Amino acid sequence: MPPQTRVPRAARGGKPEDVRRHNLGTLLGHLHESGSLSRAELTSRMGLNRSTIGGLVAQLTDLGLVHEERPAGTHAGAGRPSLLVSACPASAQVLAADIGVDRVVVGLVGLGGRVVTRRHRRLASSRSPSAVTTLIRRLVDGVLSDPAAGSRIVGMGVALPGVVRHVDGFVRFAPNLGWVDQPLGDLLAAQIGASLGGLRPRVGNDADLGVLAEHLHGVAVGHDDVVFLAGEVGVGGGCIVGGRPLLGAGGYAGELGHLPLVPGGRACRCGARGCWETEIGAQAIARALGLDKSTSDDLVLAVRRAASEGTSALDGVAHFLGRGMAGVVNLLNPRLIIIAGLLGEVFIAAGDVVRASLYEAALAAPMEQVQLAVPLLGDDAVLVGASELAWEDLLADPVAAVGVASAGVAPAGARPRSVPFATMDR
Ligand SMILES: [Zn+2]
Repeated sequence: MPPQTRVPRAARGGKPEDVRRHNLGTLLGHLHESGSLSRAELTSRMGLNRSTIGGLVAQLTDLGLVHEERPAGTHAGAGRPSLLVSACPASAQVLAADIGVDRVVVGLVGLGGRVVTRRHRRLASSRSPSAVTTLIRRLVDGVLSDPAAGSRIVGMGVALPGVVRHVDGFVRFAPNLGWVDQPLGDLLAAQIGASLGGLRPRVGNDADLGVLAEHLHGVAVGHDDVVFLAGEVGVGGGCIVGGRPLLGAGGYAGELGHLPLVPGGRACRCGARGCWETEIGAQAIARALGLDKSTSDDLVLAVRRAASEGTSALDGVAHFLGRGMAGVVNLLNPRLIIIAGLLGEVFIAAGDVVRASLYEAALAAPMEQVQLAVPLLGDDAVLVGASELAWEDLLADPVAAVGVASAGVAPAGARPRSVPFATMDR
C-alpha cells in the first residue's frame, strides 16, 4: 500500500532543488486528494509562505498539471476572491486493473481520482496468471484507444484478491484464483511495460486498495480508523488504523475472510475449515438463495431480487456477516466499516439482521463508535485504489515524472523506476 495513505508530507530539508521538487509533489498530492483548493488553503496546509506557494503553483501550471480559476458565482470586482487551484484531470492519467475471480476491469483514471473510461471482460475458464495478464493487455489496448485517453500515462496499478509482495508484485497466495507463488509483476512488466515507457506496473491486494481509495476520495475521508470488507467470491479485508495502513510484520495483515469462525465448519479454499468467508462468501450466498453455479453479476441481481421480494433467505448470511464484524469491532475499534461488493448488497438487503447480530456480539464501547457504510466510489473503489499505486512517481517528483524541464529546475534525470514503498517489503 502506498505510504501512510498519503498523509500530507511536510516540507523537508535537503538541497533546495530536492526540497522544491518534494514540495511540488506535496502540493499536487493535496489537489489530487482534495480537488480544488485556494492558495490560502494550500499555504495553511503546507506551512509555507504565500510567495512560495505562488511559485509552486506557477511551476505546476507550466507543467500543465494544474490550473487556476475564479470560484463559480464570483467576479473580478467582488473583493478579490481567492483563486482556486485545481488539478487538470486530463493532464496526467494512469492505468488501473481490478482482477476478480471471474472478471477483469481495466480503467483509465485521471489526476484527481476520477475514472475516465473502463473496459471489462469475463474471465474464461483459464484463470492462469499468463491468461489473466494477456486479457489485461487486450483491455489496456482498448482503454488506450479510447478518445478520452490522453498522451501522458504515468503508471499502472493492479489489484487482486490475494496476498501480494509489493516490492515486485509477486503473488504469494490467491486462493480463489488458485494461485500460489506467481510472478504477476514480472508478467505484467513483460506484457504491458512497453506501453508505459518501461515503467513497471505495481500490484496490491484489492481490499487494501479499496480502503485506500475510500480514505482518499470516498466515504472514509476524514476517518483514521477504517475497515474495508471486500466481498466478492472470497472475502478480503483492508484496514487503516490511526491513519496508517495496517500491514503486519510481512505486509499480509487484514485477511479477514480467513478468520476462523466456525469450529469444524465448511472447507475453505485456503485449506482451513470454518473461515468467515465460508459463511458469507459467494458460495454461501448462492447456497442461501438456492442457486447453483453463478457469476458475481448473477449473484448481485439475485440478492437484489431477494431484497425486493422481502424473503428471509439471506438472514443466515447476514447473521454471520454481523457476527464476524463484531470480532473486527472488538479488535480494531474502527470508526467506519465499509461493506463492499456482494456483501454490500447483502448489507443493503438485510441490514437489520446484520446490525442485530453485530450489536449482540460486539462490546458496547467500540460498538457505540462504529458506523457501517457501502463504498461511496461504488464498484470503482478497488479500481481507483489500484490507480493510487500508479500515482506514486508523479506525486513524489512531478518534474521528473512528466519528463519536462521547467524554469528554475534542472531537466529531469532518470525517471524513478523503483517502487517507493519497496523497502516495506510487503
Ligand atoms: Zn480460509
